[in-house]
Amino acid sequence: MTLLLTDVTVGDRPGRAVQVAGGRIAWLGDAVDAPRSDRVLAAEGALLTPAFVDAHVHATAAGLALTGLDLHSSVSLREAVETVTGHVTATRGIVLGTGWDETGWPEGRGLTRADLDAVVGDRPAYLARVDVHSAVASTALLDRVPGVTALPGWSPDGQLRLDAHHAVRQAAYGAVDPVQRRAAQRATLDAAAALGIGTVHEMAGPEVSGAEDLAGLLALAAERPGPRVLGYWGELAGRGGLVLVEELGLAGAGGDLFCDGAFGSHTAALSAPYADRPGTSGALRFDPGDLVEHVRACTLAGVQAGFHVIGDAALAQVLAAVGEVAAELGLAAVRACRHRLEHVEMVDPAAVGRLARWGVVASVQPAFDAAWGGTEGMYAERLGVERARATNPFAELADAGVALALGSDAPVTPLDPWGGVHAAVDHRTPGAGLRPFDAFDAATHGGWHAARAEHPAGPLAVGAPADLALWETTATLSAVLAGRARPACRQLLVAGEVVR
Ligand SMILES: [Zn+2]
Repeated sequence: MTLLLTDVTVGDRPGRAVQVAGGRIAWLGDAVDAPRSDRVLAAEGALLTPAFVDAHVHATAAGLALTGLDLHSSVSLREAVETVTGHVTATRGIVLGTGWDETGWPEGRGLTRADLDAVVGDRPAYLARVDVHSAVASTALLDRVPGVTALPGWSPDGQLRLDAHHAVRQAAYGAVDPVQRRAAQRATLDAAAALGIGTVHEMAGPEVSGAEDLAGLLALAAERPGPRVLGYWGELAGRGGLVLVEELGLAGAGGDLFCDGAFGSHTAALSAPYADRPGTSGALRFDPGDLVEHVRACTLAGVQAGFHVIGDAALAQVLAAVGEVAAELGLAAVRACRHRLEHVEMVDPAAVGRLARWGVVASVQPAFDAAWGGTEGMYAERLGVERARATNPFAELADAGVALALGSDAPVTPLDPWGGVHAAVDHRTPGAGLRPFDAFDAATHGGWHAARAEHPAGPLAVGAPADLALWETTATLSAVLAGRARPACRQLLVAGEVVR
């Protein structure tokens, strides 16, 4: 069975055709020379590109945000409480929500447990702050987490950070029933397909979503046509993290293996204190030895290791660990594993050089910079203007030869692959953005590369998996990129199958 996509614009060339067979690109050339095919799809000049890869996704949470309570647009505490009230009235079971951000609220404070209890009564409720590294929980949910009051990050007002937050989040997602969870995962995969995303990297872990959640997602992706799911499991090798990687055939032992938190919650680990809270520099979650052990175990097993690192102190700790393992096992062994880091938002030139030398991939989220970067955003508030301006140095990373992959970290920011590409180009700090084609490459090929699954000749070559997106535009790719357009996805192929 062969499929010919003909009269397509590929890159900047109209009048092209692509033949797909056996899930792969079998032929690529001028439409007039196209081989005979069993099926022909004439696209009237539509732009054809490799499908996007979103390299950092939390499918269940993103789906719960799509199908559930979304507080991103609440402009005041009052409005947020009203939205929660409406949701509570219309639903049963655990109340899950995300997206509240008190920084612009006239009340000058965020949601508390008392606010929530007044609305949800005895129902468990968990509402993540916009950065998802802190949250507020209702008393009924907190009651399900024995010992939570003794954990770091606990606060009697129900605003939780650090370990207290992780424990409560685990309880919250544990309370989602299987039907609710499957519907959420399906919503995410459908939304991804509608946006031309052919692959998502699911960042699972014991504190994020659980093994059952990940196994369910992989099963769902396998049993129906839709985006591919490449799974990551964020648990230290010393705590059995590699077992699940093997069992479920995951792409790596990392992802959201949290070395620190996030800027918004003052939990990203910095080498110097926060500008707006000089008493804290955030917190490191692991001992250096834990990280060395993880990187060593992964490297010995030929498995990709990875970590969530946001602050410069967290990055320094990881780099020290990779360096130690490189010295012990050799540079080639480390490079072969292509270890990867999520976020890497504070990286100085010396660290950039080490990432490049050790072949470590940077999985970055340009929408973070668009939302919080620049001289007046939340990062500037937290870090001061100087440090904020230096965050997410995409151009510097790319120029040094560090491989980049773009992602959304949905539900932290919505699935929006074109938006991510444009945000990577239009960096809030002049000079720090990527060139348009490099940004597009990081959002497509970069994702395959980051999971060690790339085709050597790139995503649009004979032999490459036929993961292709056809767009509602006849403009060239250059024109789409130059115009910052976000064309709608007309058709998505994954492994040569038309999935929408
Ligand atoms: Zn994440």
